[in-house]
Amino acid sequence: MAKTKIVKSAGRFGVRYGQSARRRTAAIEEKQNKRQECFFCNGKAVRVSKGIWECKKCGKRFAAHAYFLEKEITTQPQVIDSGKKSQSLKKEKTTN
Ligand SMILES: [Zn+2]
Repeated sequence: MAKTKIVKSAGRFGVRYGQSARRRTAAIEEKQNKRQECFFCNGKAVRVSKGIWECKKCGKRFAAHAYFLEKEITTQPQVIDSGKKSQSLKKEKTTN
């Protein structure tokens, strides 16, 4: 199953999951497949996990939207740079 006119990329699901769910999926995936820009340097941000992003240019790891980045909505993205959580993330980063 490929792209369809109505549900676009969600056409791969065929007739399953209902039309409204497939339409929502297509709307998210359309934004998700675009280039995601870092809030700090406009570099390319890559999604690490749900809501966690990492910039390829400045190396910052920050919390933002779950599926795609939109500057209009987010006012102050939180940089993960202090506390125990970031220490474990830094260790993970150095091993990579
Ligand atoms: Zn950046």
